[in-house]
Amino acid sequence: MRTRTVSVVATLSVLCWAALLQTPALRAQSQADWLDAYREPAARLIGEALSDHFAWNRLAELTDTYGPRLAGSTNLDAAIRWAVAEMKKDGLENVRAEPVMVPVWVRGQESVAITSPSYQPLVMLGLGNSIGTPPDGIEAEIWVVKSFEELDAAPERAKGNIVVYNVPYTNYGETVQYRGAGASRAAKHGALAAIVRSVGPPGLRTPHTGGLNYTEDQPKIPAAAITVEDAERLQRLQDRGLRIIVKLKMEAHFEPDVQSANVIGEIVGREKPEEVVVVGCHFDSWDVGVGASDDGGGCVVTWEALRLMKKAGLRPRRTMRVVLFTNEENGLRGGRAYLEKYKDQLANHVLMFESDLGVFRPTGFNFSGSDAARETIKQIATLLQGIDAHRVGPGGGGGDIGPAVQAGSIPAMSPVVEGNYFLIHHTPADTVDKIDAIDVARNAAAIAVMTYVIADMPARLGR
Ligand SMILES: [Zn+2]
Repeated sequence: MRTRTVSVVATLSVLCWAALLQTPALRAQSQADWLDAYREPAARLIGEALSDHFAWNRLAELTDTYGPRLAGSTNLDAAIRWAVAEMKKDGLENVRAEPVMVPVWVRGQESVAITSPSYQPLVMLGLGNSIGTPPDGIEAEIWVVKSFEELDAAPERAKGNIVVYNVPYTNYGETVQYRGAGASRAAKHGALAAIVRSVGPPGLRTPHTGGLNYTEDQPKIPAAAITVEDAERLQRLQDRGLRIIVKLKMEAHFEPDVQSANVIGEIVGREKPEEVVVVGCHFDSWDVGVGASDDGGGCVVTWEALRLMKKAGLRPRRTMRVVLFTNEENGLRGGRAYLEKYKDQLANHVLMFESDLGVFRPTGFNFSGSDAARETIKQIATLLQGIDAHRVGPGGGGGDIGPAVQAGSIPAMSPVVEGNYFLIHHTPADTVDKIDAIDVARNAAAIAVMTYVIADMPARLGR
């Protein structure tokens, strides 16, 4: 009896466990059913992407032909006309260049040299949006600091001198504040100019440019970046107790705003054309290098998502829209203009996706949105296990989509890639030869599959 009771309890217990185990099993089964309809199109998109080097070739053509594409430059204008013509050739719909007024920053001639204890020219790049020096330059003693705290602790040492920030790179978000705010922080203490150690890991004496932000309450002073090697050298000279004199000359200045454009192409949705999935990038670059990783590659792979759908004969339920934004680097006017133009349609923006961290080997995506939407994204991402690009992490977004994403609380997404993006970022070394054709194809495949399913699935992605 006793044995039998135990036996019944054991049997019931097994049944209960079976029932418990069945729930997730059934759930997984229904997920698979939902996704099954997308296995074949996903395989086709991946196959199309990996079958040739079309995307890499397009990036090489863009960057070889038009080179650096700073906002307001004739190079960017010509590249915009090329992109419009190419999108039409791809068969995209509603291809258009939407006008955006952009600032025109001109670097001009520039140089930095140590003039004492002995004359030595340094490798440098003026920071974007900086003012220039007087024509004869600024020659002054330097003070090398390792942090804002060190600067603020002895403000009298900055007065009448050039402040050099020798701040080692940790990560972009952390170190970039010295490039952005260094000039105004030094000007507050009476410095004549600011020089920052390039924001990036040690390279091969490579200077990195990038935008600075003057604060309204301080005088504007010129600012430039020098290489990691030269910043360390100035530090060593100072640490030996030497008085170091540096001469900075910059012709940098702004000219009146001119008209640029966001380039847009679409595949109009077959059932819900008013609901839109936006993929994008920024088409402008700094005036050094050719903007292959930042962000020509991001433009080619997001644009490629639509071309691949066309090529595979796929017209999703909702509209796919690619936007090549202008003027991200020194103004963000393209992203703001998009918000202004489409502010009444943000509720119909299902997802905004931006690629602006290079097109190296993709490992997955970062996503910002609701938990329910994240679960859906994770399910779709399983379709990318074959190319090892199926991971989903937090914190998706991008500079250009930022204004619309914030204003409309739109789910946002960006690819995660493994590569040396910040080694070449904003440098003369940002060229297409650093980028592998298969990696570009994998990026295009991953974006095409992810966004196609989101644009096509029966239920709209949750908010
Ligand atoms: Zn960028």
